Amino acid sequence: MKLKFKEPAPIVDELNPLESMMERFNEAAQILGLDESTYNALKSPEKAVIVNLPVTMDDGSIKVFEGYRVIHSSKLGPSKGGIRYSMGVNLDEVKALAAWMTWKSAVVGIPYGGAKGGITCNPREMSAGELERLTRAFTVAMRDVIGPEIDIPAPDMGTNPQIMAWIMDEYSKLAGQVSHAVVTGKPLVLGGSLGRVEATGRGVMVSARSAMAKLKMNPSNSTCAVQGFGNVGSISAQLLSLQGVKIVAISDISGAYYNKEGIDIKKASKYAEKKGSLEGYKDATLITNEELLELDVDILVPAALEDQITVENAPRIKAKLIVEGANGPTASNADRILEDNGITVVPDILANAGGVTISYYEWVQNNTGQYWGFVHVAKLMEEHLVTGFKDAYELSKKKNIDMRRACMAIAVKRVVEAFELRGIWP
Ligand code: NAD
Repeated sequence: MKLKFKEPAPIVDELNPLESMMERFNEAAQILGLDESTYNALKSPEKAVIVNLPVTMDDGSIKVFEGYRVIHSSKLGPSKGGIRYSMGVNLDEVKALAAWMTWKSAVVGIPYGGAKGGITCNPREMSAGELERLTRAFTVAMRDVIGPEIDIPAPDMGTNPQIMAWIMDEYSKLAGQVSHAVVTGKPLVLGGSLGRVEATGRGVMVSARSAMAKLKMNPSNSTCAVQGFGNVGSISAQLLSLQGVKIVAISDISGAYYNKEGIDIKKASKYAEKKGSLEGYKDATLITNEELLELDVDILVPAALEDQITVENAPRIKAKLIVEGANGPTASNADRILEDNGITVVPDILANAGGVTISYYEWVQNNTGQYWGFVHVAKLMEEHLVTGFKDAYELSKKKNIDMRRACMAIAVKRVVEAFELRGIWP
């Protein structure tokens, strides 16, 4: 049996995610005037573990996989971050993504540190049995690294609730007790949270709504293009259209689909669910993903991959507002071009933080044994994102900086404060 994944796990081939992360961290350090020792303490991960995982494949052969877990920071709380299964996984990428998780939790006021993990593998070419053995081997190898009070994994590219269930089960066996709180993004029946599946897309909508209010954009007179029609892109499009925004373009790996009269997102979602992708979608004109980014729209939501907005295409972007659903969709060297052109960017660490926020509340529910309804969880998440936006917007106005630098400055400041309060031994 093969596990189902919505789309081929994209192979990550970005410019260099670690450099992009460091560039933005350096800017925040400058804004905050960090001293050298604090800067040095925060720039590198606290821990980076590489494991070698021999796995018996279905044909009886033994294949060895490399797995990673990087804990960037545990200053604000237990570290938190997804596990990625992809051929593109490497230590530098995991280090960069771990740091993003630190800043993401900090900017929305979640008491978590940041981590990330991954295994270099192609989940699409593996059977469910092979994936289960690989996941259990990873859990055993990382048993002293992860844990409900120390480091809590979640799904990411190429992983899903089933994989979280295997981690939870294996970890529980090792611990000699049922440990729901060791991972989030679990199936509901194993302690998952209502609202988790649509959390990130909902957060994108909440961030877009906050930004539209500040920019005096009326949702009902606004148009939007969404790149990527997976979990984040399709839910963002659905919820933005419920706010009155006209979604004129959507896309996935098969291409982009444009209709200036607006796309019926419910219909497109049903189509993509049935066919496995938007390929052949009829009620729109087929354009390229590159063309979608440059459409004359009010709002652009990149919700697919890293490094989609670059120095090359940034000068041609016409949207007034970019809300980053994906992680790292804008290369760091394109930031100033967008800023100079008066484009407001709600950066990834804020705009897509809905997922980690509801993950946090999944963990809280697991730890307390109380389970909440969808409306309550969604409301809690919205409060974090609305407050995060307000804090960043005020700082951006006060310091005359863009929202990305404001978010980073707020996040780094919170981690520095925790670092100073906790002190250094001896
Ligand atoms: P997904 O796998 O559900 O969807 C990805 C979408 O991108 C698919 O529609 C796919 O066809 C499309 N895509 C792939 N390659 C493409 C290409 N070359 N051009 C255009 N489209 C392409 O993934 P997702 O969970 O929606 O995640 C999307 C982004 O959001 C990623 O950057 C992820 O790291 C980030 N993110 C996701 C979450 C979450 O909770 N799912 C949370 C935070 C950040």
